Amino acid sequence: MTTIHILGSGTPAPTHDRFGSSYVIDTGESMVMLDCGPGATAKAAMAGIDVTAIDAVFLTHHHYDHSVDLPCMLMTRWDHEVPGSEPMRIHGPAPTVDLVDGITGVKGIFRHDVRARSEHPSSQRIYQMRGGSLPRPEPRWNTSDLEPGSVVKGNGWTVTAARAAHVQPFHESLAYRFDTAETSIVITGDTARCSEVTELAKGADTMLCCCWDHHDGDDQIDECVAEGMVGNMCGPEDAALMATEAGVTRLVLVHHTPSVAQPGPAARALEIAQENFSGEVIFAHEGLRIEDLATAHSSAR
Ligand SMILES: [Zn+2]
Repeated sequence: MTTIHILGSGTPAPTHDRFGSSYVIDTGESMVMLDCGPGATAKAAMAGIDVTAIDAVFLTHHHYDHSVDLPCMLMTRWDHEVPGSEPMRIHGPAPTVDLVDGITGVKGIFRHDVRARSEHPSSQRIYQMRGGSLPRPEPRWNTSDLEPGSVVKGNGWTVTAARAAHVQPFHESLAYRFDTAETSIVITGDTARCSEVTELAKGADTMLCCCWDHHDGDDQIDECVAEGMVGNMCGPEDAALMATEAGVTRLVLVHHTPSVAQPGPAARALEIAQENFSGEVIFAHEGLRIEDLATAHSSAR
């Protein structure tokens, strides 16, 4: 059974219950993190997820509310994973490879700690007590920059990328479709209503779509790569219209501003989405686990 963990369902605005974006899909055989926003590593641990067992991290784009916890994730993985483990995958639009190298590479900002934990005798003893042998291996990652149309295959899953309409040309932004033999899940990342994301989501079981606030764009952006396009996001209406056009079974509204996350506005967002989409709608909160596609319940909070 596949489980979706909503670890981060907020924006750059920190509140007591929402901050940034991060989700983990657990297929039972493999765990994949989508986005690594503020506190993602800690939130995963608090959700009972073994961080050292996450096989891959996919970043939708490089706004910090989607990627800023990557240093914590990488250092935690390198320091705590079972010696000899397969390198964790990190994929996303450019400059994902440079970002990873800039954290643990030879000139990385955490290089000083890689060196300290590799060379100080007490750190070496701790590493040996965990079953490792010296010299301590370098951080190793399976990393690549993705583009729209990129396909990545993992342990029982396939991830397909499509361009999302967000803040190009400053950041390339990707939506991902996660397919297994059991289910298909789309994570839109930050996007306006967009034909390329709708096409990616065609027939998916579950679509996690940003729901920034109650405001939606006036027109669908048919060409997501429109030159000079300004940043844009979905509200509940555009999220629901994309879900309807794609024919998905379930819509999960994520990435909420503090204002839309208030009980009254959240209920209104749910109502607007339900007026425009006949399937199940969930207004997500952090810590939510969607454990079974057939039995999850709609909720507003
Ligand atoms: Zn963004």
